[in-house]
Amino acid sequence: MKMKKIYLDNAATTPVDPRVVEAMKPYWNQIYANPSSNHSAGQAALDAVEQARERAAALFHVESEEIIFTGSGTEADNTALIGVGHALRGKGKHLITSAIEHKAILETAKYMQEIGWELTILPVDGDGLVNPDDFKKAIRPDTVLASIMHANNEIGTIQPIGELSRIAKEHGIVFHTDAVQSAGHVEIDFHKFGLDYLSLSAHKLYGPKGVGVLIQKKGAPFAPFMHGGSHEKSRRASTHNVPGIVGLGMACDLAKKQMVDDEGRIQSLREFFWRKLRDQIDGVHLNGHPVKRLANNLNVSFDHVDGEALLMNLDMEGISVSSGSACSAKSGGASHVLTALGLPKERLSSNIRFSLGRSVTLEDIEDTVDILTRIITRLRSLSSFGD
Ligand code: PLP
Repeated sequence: MKMKKIYLDNAATTPVDPRVVEAMKPYWNQIYANPSSNHSAGQAALDAVEQARERAAALFHVESEEIIFTGSGTEADNTALIGVGHALRGKGKHLITSAIEHKAILETAKYMQEIGWELTILPVDGDGLVNPDDFKKAIRPDTVLASIMHANNEIGTIQPIGELSRIAKEHGIVFHTDAVQSAGHVEIDFHKFGLDYLSLSAHKLYGPKGVGVLIQKKGAPFAPFMHGGSHEKSRRASTHNVPGIVGLGMACDLAKKQMVDDEGRIQSLREFFWRKLRDQIDGVHLNGHPVKRLANNLNVSFDHVDGEALLMNLDMEGISVSSGSACSAKSGGASHVLTALGLPKERLSSNIRFSLGRSVTLEDIEDTVDILTRIITRLRSLSSFGD
């Protein structure tokens, strides 16, 4: 009998929605001209890019010229820090970010330190929240740029981004948020949040990999990160990834139409998951904020269980999960996010991130908890030999 596969790693990436795949299809070898070409075939490709731009803009309540297509969420983050930082260099060289950012921000911020910037990394509390007072206190006369993520990729905690951006505005600081995990999952009104920049990535909202967006508030200081042609109004050089951009646009359109329903259903499943987990297994701890978190995220530490061993055992049963983020899991070592929460050492190595998505069913969750119960009972009985 074929093993049933259960995919609970939607924070690492989501499957591409079949409607997105359909929308992309004509743009590989039918409408394939370069959108920058001055002929009607090029114009047809450009029309598709512009429709996608409008769809992305509609999801975040911005104007279409505020959308800059990029090659990924990572590129959008690099542009927001390195490009925007470069534009601000005459005003000051102090950058503020948080300890739980994705590596796309943290490593970029560290690179900026290498090239002469000063960096303040804000701590978070035990639930993963940045304290707005800490942000205020970190601001100096030479602070010009701040980047605080909207929702965390490992623990799902959602920051008070409107409040943080308001503080930034009061001090004349350009404010960027990495919304790669929340875009298409949480309602974001870019201007109501008072943002200057926002990054997102199509593959986290049922779109294709290798395409993202940086939203730029009209008139916000900017210098490109990618240099070359005059694409994207000279903000991002390189021939447009037309199928990818069309897919991103479609993914945004679908999110706009069904986000509220999807996320409501996913949240109920997550709550059911957590209840059943606590009923069936002792010694489980939720990591991240109990309420201010993404609907799809359940990050749990299991007493006396090694997270990696649990991940591998689940994989053998056809269940895909993550221990920490997909990126830090590969590089080994404790997650910088869980470390920043100040969790006891034991909880750092015994955690699993379950991230739900559109295609997850109640039966998937029931099966997962039953399989987890069996594996954990076995792992704990084995580990007691070493105690
Ligand atoms: N920022 C966050 C919060 C993420 O979760 C990710 C992807 O895991 C990224 C940035 C990078 O996005 P991309 O994979 O499109 O480069």
